[in-house]
Amino acid sequence: TTARVPLIAGNWKMNLDHREAVTLVQRLAWLLTDADHDHEDVEVAVFPPFTDLRAVQVLVTGDRLDVAYGAQDLSPEDSGAYTGDVSGAFLAALGCRYAIVGHSERRTIHGEDDALVARKAAAALRHGLSPVVCVGEGLDVRQAGRHVAHTVAQLEGSLVGLSAEDVARTVVAYEPVWAIGTGEVAGAGDAQEMCAALRARVGELHGDDVAAGLRILYGGSVKSTSAPELLTQPDVDGALVGGASLDAEEFAKIVRFDQ
Ligand code: PEP
Repeated sequence: TTARVPLIAGNWKMNLDHREAVTLVQRLAWLLTDADHDHEDVEVAVFPPFTDLRAVQVLVTGDRLDVAYGAQDLSPEDSGAYTGDVSGAFLAALGCRYAIVGHSERRTIHGEDDALVARKAAAALRHGLSPVVCVGEGLDVRQAGRHVAHTVAQLEGSLVGLSAEDVARTVVAYEPVWAIGTGEVAGAGDAQEMCAALRARVGELHGDDVAAGLRILYGGSVKSTSAPELLTQPDVDGALVGGASLDAEEFAKIVRFDQ
């Protein structure tokens, strides 16, 4: 079996003021620097608002601690007349390792479709960032029993135009929309079923090696109490955590899900 290092990713969304963001990352760094945390076993990443990235960079860089960070979105373009957008080039210059693309809140509130998400994923990769490509079905689709076909097709559309090398540097996040911010967690079996189906499709498209190395996260109301069962499923390689990532103690407990 291929060893995929689990990724525990905290999506802060549009929360916290600058001082609170700085406090959170410092507290998290302090909790994770604890001697019994083995940094090889799990990768930790935080996704603050754009305006906090520079401060997070200063606070986590050069420490013996390895906390990665990334952006919650990026422009599909590299530079030019795109008022209000943020280029992957800027994010790379700030030391970002990741950029979330296609979060359900972007898809719903900003009308982003799979084609745009794929262009954003390509933009991230052009600048040396790993895109965290989010997919997942709404409640209606799940209730109709079409969730696997729907989400597999959504992933395929969101990776359009990417090469096998690109996909090898990509992270996928399965986030059922009905579980995001609702307190409703998918069952571990449901998360496993979907992550396995997504991996199988990537295998068909890009080969077994790429599929075996691909990290697929689960997201949707993950807490320290639900994390252990979710994260020990064979095809679930980490978590994308929203609400619980705003509490340093709780997020650190999720990072230590296997202890
Ligand atoms: C998310 O927005 O990516 C998420 C999973 O949020 P929450 O954990 O709050 O459901």
